[in-house]
Amino acid sequence: MEKILLKNIENPDSADIDFYIKQGGYQSLPKALGMTPSDIIEMVKRSGLRGRGGAGFPAGMKWSFAACDTKTPKYLLCNADEGEPGTFKDKPILERKPHLLIEGMVISAYAIGAEYGYIYLRGEYPKAKGILEKAISQAYERGYLGDNITGRGIRFHLSVHQGAGAYICGEETALIDSLEGKRGQPRIKPPFPVNVGAWGMPTVVNNVETLSNIPLIIEIGPEGYSKIGSPDCPGPKIYCVSGHVNRPGIYELPMGTSLRELIYTHAGGIRNGRRLKAVVPGGISTPVLPADAIDVAMDFVSMTKAGSMLGSGATIVMDATTCMVKVAWRALKFFEHESCGKCTPCREGTGWLRQILQRIEDGRGRDGDIELLNDVSDNILGKTFCPLGDAAAMVVKSMLKHFKKEFEEHIKRTHSAEVLK
Ligand code: SF4
Repeated sequence: MEKILLKNIENPDSADIDFYIKQGGYQSLPKALGMTPSDIIEMVKRSGLRGRGGAGFPAGMKWSFAACDTKTPKYLLCNADEGEPGTFKDKPILERKPHLLIEGMVISAYAIGAEYGYIYLRGEYPKAKGILEKAISQAYERGYLGDNITGRGIRFHLSVHQGAGAYICGEETALIDSLEGKRGQPRIKPPFPVNVGAWGMPTVVNNVETLSNIPLIIEIGPEGYSKIGSPDCPGPKIYCVSGHVNRPGIYELPMGTSLRELIYTHAGGIRNGRRLKAVVPGGISTPVLPADAIDVAMDFVSMTKAGSMLGSGATIVMDATTCMVKVAWRALKFFEHESCGKCTPCREGTGWLRQILQRIEDGRGRDGDIELLNDVSDNILGKTFCPLGDAAAMVVKSMLKHFKKEFEEHIKRTHSAEVLK
């Protein structure tokens, strides 16, 4: 597939407004502003676009909930807090095609009736901040942002809000708290942000990639859009591949491209001719898959059926030399560090799991540690405010499901070492 969202991304001028316009940019905006907001929402619904942040919720449906709410002002927030290990799919849009995102945001804001928007940017992306701010000021100068967009009396103001580098602020309600100047911690849902969001007002939070799909839907129509990708999950998808592959990087492909094709065709296969051992398909919070499970379409529905999740589409590839106990320990070290501490099962459980994994990895594993890992995970799953706790538990459980023998051998080695002493 030719690049659509990432088209011309290699060009050094791709972030500039003149280049974007010359390549056909800002043409979907006047077209959309000539339609009614409800017609745009209907188009997005018919396109089948699902949020690209990880949850895969239908974008048009989310918009319709906010659009129906009569409270004002409404807000449109772009989630650019790309903090999941292995995930860097939004970075090229933020740094090289910021106007695609801005155009998508103006159309989306018009559809839901939002007059204010923020791009909540990952703290670790300082380069993107400058690029986005320059692009926003260019868009104001050309009349694509402001009080009278393209002379139609439509108002939308946009600015960048930089986070402080906390993973949890990528969760939409924690993002809202952080934007409001509070400590970034998730809120209980319901009420959902579409009705009670930023400053208590209706708020739509969409991911960078989701919003960047909107100009394309307006340009080619929902029927044309739904022909790309898989029937249940249409459209293009940006996958990023890291780990033991020959060509790690970012690949824009139709949604539903198989995991095997992504690894062996696009990312060039496993480094040094080694054997594939495991894959984390959607960022470190998604359950690991063994090597024999890669004949699966990378879309929200198929990945769930395969026992994992598409997540952000960030694929981490591990070859035969990888120690899965160490991977699990490193993952839990991350979750423990990033747990916001609001709920006990996550705050205490992630630390406990990390400690057990650490002692197994250090050669101090005990009989019953595997059962204990499963037990602690079960006591986190489904008992936390936000998905971080679930993610930590699912990672451990999937590791034990597919690589239990390796954990047992680690513990056994400990015992034989004791006997030798
Ligand atoms: S699950 Fe963890 S990160 Fe999420 S609210 Fe609870 S303590 Fe915070």
